[in-house]
This record gives sequence, structure tokens and C-alpha cells, in this order.
Amino acid sequence: MALDLSRFQATGLETCFHDRHIQPQIYSGLNGSNWQLSEYVQRGGYQALRKVLGADGAAPMTQDQVIAEVKASGLRGRGGAGFPTGLKWSFMPRAFPGQKFLVCNSDEGEPGTCKDRDILRYNPHIVIEGMAIAAFAMGINRGYNYIHGEIFEVYERFEAALAEARAAGLLGQNILGSGFSFDLFAHHGFGAYICGEETALLESIEGKKGQPRFKPPFPASFGLYGRPTTINNTETFAAVPWIIRNGGQAYLECGKPNNGGTKIFSMVGDVERPGNYEIPMGTPFSKLLELAGGVKGGRKLKAVIPGGSSAPVLPAAVMMDCTMDYDSISKAGSMLGSGAVIVMDETRCMVKSLLRLSYFYQHESCGQCTPCREGTGWLWRLVSRIEHGEGREEDLALLDNVAENIMGRTICALGDAAAMPVRGMLKHFRDEFAHHIAHKTCMVPAYV
Ligand code: SF4
Repeated sequence: MALDLSRFQATGLETCFHDRHIQPQIYSGLNGSNWQLSEYVQRGGYQALRKVLGADGAAPMTQDQVIAEVKASGLRGRGGAGFPTGLKWSFMPRAFPGQKFLVCNSDEGEPGTCKDRDILRYNPHIVIEGMAIAAFAMGINRGYNYIHGEIFEVYERFEAALAEARAAGLLGQNILGSGFSFDLFAHHGFGAYICGEETALLESIEGKKGQPRFKPPFPASFGLYGRPTTINNTETFAAVPWIIRNGGQAYLECGKPNNGGTKIFSMVGDVERPGNYEIPMGTPFSKLLELAGGVKGGRKLKAVIPGGSSAPVLPAAVMMDCTMDYDSISKAGSMLGSGAVIVMDETRCMVKSLLRLSYFYQHESCGQCTPCREGTGWLWRLVSRIEHGEGREEDLALLDNVAENIMGRTICALGDAAAMPVRGMLKHFRDEFAHHIAHKTCMVPAYV
């Protein structure tokens, strides 16, 4: 299927990036100027904010009109959960008399995912504009962008973009003479994976240890400093200016029903051209793989983790029948998640792969709840002894049992995130684990 991007190409603001495909070699463009305000404005930047605020003489949009456009677009949260953005915005109690907050979650820490840092690196103003529009729609005048701790140069880039926007009257008091005021600040995280969980992120901004809160109450009613707060992912905010300029229906039509617009996928692992690719939702996986140059070295595709490390793995045959959208991947038994597509070729040992994942989750558990704190360690130790030729016959049933007893029994989703890869691996590649236990060695030729 050919990709129809004509609707995007007509706008000049077609993607979050300047190029649809960010190749590693253009990372050296970090010191270039095309991220700056003047370049962004030349490409049509801040026209959506001007439209919302009525800055060019036309009637301003109402808050309800902005939210209605976002609802019509079918935009779903791009951070992993896929919750409808317009609906989330409508949960904000706009009439609340005190301070309300808007927060951007740029704490991108899911293994394999590397899209938000590139949006902020190459096009920071699109996030600032999207946040200003969201703030207007929800009657909020203060926002924070929480940026992952291990990408300091991106934090500095965003700070520089904020300074430009403030100097141009696009942030701060009385934006573009509209009477609407919005102050936005960058907040540097400290590199903990769990701070990407929205309530842990709020705790971290408040200066506390980044640990998830028990819910309810949810941030819409009790968020930052106990005030109503809306949190969206970087890519979600980046989609908003295009939606406002072109209409929610146009965005929806770029994707497929219930899966509006485009999505950035981080193609990582065994592909010829790893990188970020923005494609319409509903594009066949085979097309995305082709864009990334196919499987590395012309080897055979074995499996794919389609939505970041916490998503269950899918075998090649299942994945090749999928389209890249929430519904198709979910129907196949996995999740679109954060959009990191981890491609594994025929030389990959699934036991070794799961060992690496399990190590990550037991290391990142914040330790508040017993099933996660203890269970993630059990999973790691069990997989470790299978990988190292010390597996016991009963270990597969034990792995199933531990994973099942973590799922749904923890404060936040990290417990599930640790258990789901285990269940996915055992569902589709149980024979590899059984072989390791029976023969104390790997059945994958490259690892023998
Ligand atoms: Fe912490 Fe894990 Fe419980 Fe989440 S599930 S709160 S990471 S112990």
C-alpha cells in the first residue's frame, strides 16, 4: 500500500519533524537553526494559536470549540495508554476557582522509545504551541514540561525555545493581546523510569521522591500540588496545532476510525535504518519495516515487540498481518504503547531477550507494592537461571504463576509492564524456554 501523505504535505506543518524520517546521521544537525522560532513561523508555526486567540482579526475560538475539534480528530494519547485526548481535556473542571496545571510528560524512558526527545530536539515550538492551545481550552495559566533526566541537551534546547516564545509574546501575560495568559516552564527529571508514570512525575515536580500515587483521586481532580491537572505526552501536544489549523475531521481521515492521524514509530533493533518514522495510523507493519530498510543483513524476521518493552511480543507471522494502530495491535494480543517497535531477527534468543527485559523492570521498580517489588525480582531470577542452564522443569509454570500474581495487583502499571513480556514470551516461544531447561543450551543456532 502506498502511503497517502498528500493532506499533510499540503500544510507545510506536515509532521512533527522537518523530515518524515530522522536518520542517525542528521542528529549532527543539532546545532542547526531550523528548530528556532523564525523557522517555525516560516513553516506556518503559531498560526493555530493565533486562530484560537483571534489574533488576526477573526473571531476567537471558544474553549468548547477547541475541545470539540480535538475530540473530532480521534487523537489518542501518544504516551502509551491511548486515552482519547479531547475526552481527557473535557474532564478538567474549568470552573475550579483556584490554580490549575497543565503538564507535558517528556519523561521518555521506555526501552526502545526515542521519539519525544527528537520532537523537542528538532521542533520544540510545536510542543509549546500545542500546550498553549491546550491551556486555553482548559482555562489553565501555568504549565510544566517534565523532560527525561538523561537528555540534558534537549532540556537546554527546550529552555531556549521557551525564551524565544516569551520574547515574542507567545507565552506569558496577555498572549498576542488576547487577554489570555500562560506561563510554561521546563522541569528536568533525574532519569528514573518510574517518573514517566504520571503521578510519580507530579511527585517529582513537587520535589519529592518520584513514586506513583494511589488512585483515585486522579490528577484531573487532585494533581500537581493537589490542584486539577491535565497531563499529556509530548507527541500528543505536538499534534494539536495541525488539528486546529486543518480541522479535527481532516486529522481523523489521515488515519482510520478510532485511530486518527499519524503516529511516530521508533524503529529499533534488527533493522537496516533504525530511526523515527511518522506514518498514518493504519499503515501495514510491512510498509513500516520497508521504510526502515527491512530486517538487518537480509535475515528472517522472528518477532516484534510493537509498543515498547512492556508490550507482549508478537511472532513475525502475526505481526506481518497487523496494521500500525491501537485496534489492530490490540486484536493481535499486544499494545501499540509508546510506539517503539523492537524488531528481532532469527538470531535472537528469546530467553536472553526476556532476561534483559526482566532485569530492567526489577531494577526500576520503586518498591512501594509487594507484588511488584518482590515479583519483578523473582521473574528476573527465574529467567536468569533458565538462561544460565540451571532451569528446573517446574520453572515455566512458576513463571506463569508469578506473572499472573503481579498483573492488576499493583499501584501503577509497572507491575503489569514487567509481567506482560513474560506472558507474551511464554505464549509464543515456550518451546525455546523448555529447550533451555531440558538441554541447558539455546536452540537458536547463533547462540549454540
Ligand atoms: Fe512502585 Fe512497582 Fe508499585 Fe508501581 S507497581 S508503585 S513501580 S512498586
